[in-house]
Amino acid sequence: MGEFDLIKRFFDIPELRPGPTMALGPGDDCALLQVPFKHELAVSSDTFVSGVHFFADMAASQIAQRCLAASVSDLAAMGATPAWFNLCLTMPSADEAWVRSFSQGLAAQAQACAISLAGGDTTKGPLSISIHVMGWVPLGQAITRSGAGIGDVIMVSGSLGDSAAGLQLMQHQRDAADDLSKRFWNPTPRIALGQWLRNKATACLDVSDGLVQDLGHILSASGCGADLQLHDLPLSVELTSHVSLIQARDYALNGGEDFELCFTLPSHLVTQAQAYSKLKNLPLTAIGHTSTTLGCRIWAGDKGLFVPPKGYQHF
Ligand code: ADP
Ligand code: MG
Repeated sequence: MGEFDLIKRFFDIPELRPGPTMALGPGDDCALLQVPFKHELAVSSDTFVSGVHFFADMAASQIAQRCLAASVSDLAAMGATPAWFNLCLTMPSADEAWVRSFSQGLAAQAQACAISLAGGDTTKGPLSISIHVMGWVPLGQAITRSGAGIGDVIMVSGSLGDSAAGLQLMQHQRDAADDLSKRFWNPTPRIALGQWLRNKATACLDVSDGLVQDLGHILSASGCGADLQLHDLPLSVELTSHVSLIQARDYALNGGEDFELCFTLPSHLVTQAQAYSKLKNLPLTAIGHTSTTLGCRIWAGDKGLFVPPKGYQHF
C-alpha cells in the first residue's frame, strides 16, 4: 500500500469529516478553511510518542481515540468550538490492519467531537502522532489562563485521578476493560462546558499534567494564589473502591490526563454552574478559592496544611 493509496482509503474519507465543511479538504497542497465572521481561530498542537504517551501495543483505534480527545480538550479549555484538525502520522510500516483500526478510532472520536480532518502528513519512522486542532471562538471571548480574580471560586468538572489509576491498571493488564482504564484511553473533552463558560469563567484550562501543577499555571498567569480543600476533591466511586483514600487523593492532585476543566468563577455565578451541572448530569465541584497570598495551599479539614507530592514533568 503506497502513501497516497493509504491516505485516500483511510484518511480522505467522509467519516473523518463530521464537523464544519471546508472550502478545500485533504488532497491539495493546503486545505482552505473559512472562519465565521467576527470569530477568532484557536489553534493547538500535541505530539504523542509511542512508549511515552501511549503503549505501542494498545489497539490502534484506542491510540487514535485518545490522541484526538486529548488534543480537542485544549479547544474545550478555551471555550472554542472544534472545527478542523491536521494529522501528522509517522509509523514504521504501512500495516493495513493497523491503519484501518487507527482510522476507525479516529473517526469515532472525530464524530464525538464534531471535528473534520483537513489534512496532514504521512511519513515512515518510529510511531509518533502529531495532531493540530483548530476551532473558533467569538471575537474576544476565548477563556485564557490569565483572568482569575481574587476571591473567585475554583471549580473542576467530572472526577479527578481516574485516568492515572487507569494507566496504572493498564501497565499490568493492557486490555483492562474497566471504567478507570477507559478514562485513560478514551477521555471525554468537555466541549459543551467550555463553551458554556464563555463570559462566565475568568480563567480555564484542561487538567493534563495534574491538578496542582496545572492550576499553578492559572495562578502564575493571573498573579494570585489558591486555597484548596483536600476533602472537596471530586473522586469517583470507581477510584475510591479501587485504591485507598490517600492514594486516590494523590492521583487526583498529581495524576495527569483527566482532561477535565479547571476554572475560576466569580462567586455569584456558582449557583448557575450548579444548575448547569444538574441539567447536564456533569459534576462541577468547588474545590477552593483564589487569594492574594501567592502559591497553592491545600487544607486537610481541621488538620491544617497538607503538603502534596509533585505532578508529572517531562524533563
Ligand atoms: P505535499 O507533498 O504537498 O506536502 P503530501 O504528499 O504530504 O503533500 O500530502 C498530500 C495531501 O494529503 C495533502 O493535502 C495532505 O494534507 C494530505 N495528507 C497527507 N497525510 C495525511 C493524513 N495522515 N491525514 C490526512 N491528510 C493527509
Ligand atoms: Mg507533506
